Amino acid sequence: MAGWAIAVHGGAGVDPNLPKERQEAAKKLLTRCLTIGISALRSSMSAIDVVELVVRELETDPIFNSGRGSALSEKGTVEMEASIMDGAGRRCGAVSGVSTVKNPVSLARLVMDKSPHSYLAFSGAEKFAKQQGVEMVDTEYFITEDNLGMLKLAKEANSILFDYRIPTVGSESCGAAAEAPPMIMNGLPISVYAPETVGCVAVDGEGRCAAATSTGGLMNKMIGRIGDSPLIGAGTYAGELCGVSCTGEGEAIIRGTLARDVAAVMEYKGLSLQAAVDLVIGKRLDGGGKAGLIAVSSKGEVAWGFNTVGMFRGCATGEGFMEVGIWD
Ligand code: ASP
Repeated sequence: MAGWAIAVHGGAGVDPNLPKERQEAAKKLLTRCLTIGISALRSSMSAIDVVELVVRELETDPIFNSGRGSALSEKGTVEMEASIMDGAGRRCGAVSGVSTVKNPVSLARLVMDKSPHSYLAFSGAEKFAKQQGVEMVDTEYFITEDNLGMLKLAKEANSILFDYRIPTVGSESCGAAAEAPPMIMNGLPISVYAPETVGCVAVDGEGRCAAATSTGGLMNKMIGRIGDSPLIGAGTYAGELCGVSCTGEGEAIIRGTLARDVAAVMEYKGLSLQAAVDLVIGKRLDGGGKAGLIAVSSKGEVAWGFNTVGMFRGCATGEGFMEVGIWD
């Protein structure tokens, strides 16, 4: 029997001067979610159930950019997206443009389990949610004061945002470059503090891999914008050999088909999990794209990689390894 393994992320990016309290709050949430996933795997829950369970927890807490605390569109609305994939049988489900579904990852799971399709969006996804009787809330539930403030900053800077970038005066630095250089995404500057996407990958004791990702997308995004997170093969993928969840600049992740490429180089080139992750992060992010990912293999290994300043992440294996971190 293979050993279990799990990894969670709360987004790639991270302002090098992110205040210590925010770092600690993020690590506390990641530790709590990881612990929930570990207990579930120890009690023989399947990988697909574990990734859904863990992502639901992350969606419910406003710290990261998914469910409550989702990034806001240019109109100040939420258009959330999520996807889930079961490597056993390569089944998948995804949703985009949902604004009243409390846990988008569970709606993605229902698309996989209860619909004839793989991906539902906007009014069709909301209608399906009602039919399935999932918990729905007023759209205001998802909108936080913090995010309204960030949207205002984003508009002032004419930026679309995906990570934490405002150096905070007087805060303690992590030791990375104190002044991160301004980044350009699709011709627009990305320079302001923004919340981050979540994901979970797991392999259970029977070697079944699964992955799930959930997000509000980018702060100040255009209405109708769809990122990598709900796209199977880009932001999320699970197959016989591994499960992968990505985060970062969605447009670059889509161009690089990051999640599927990790699986593909393992399948076709016989690379190990960590070698596949390193190759994809090193070679598939063209044009300065910034991203990170977490991955598990059917052998019970865990790996991650990112080319951003940091990535909120945690991982554990059945062999007793456990780590929660932000920086390199
Ligand atoms: N990848 C997400 C998106 O582009 C953002 C993130 O990971 O923070 O929608």
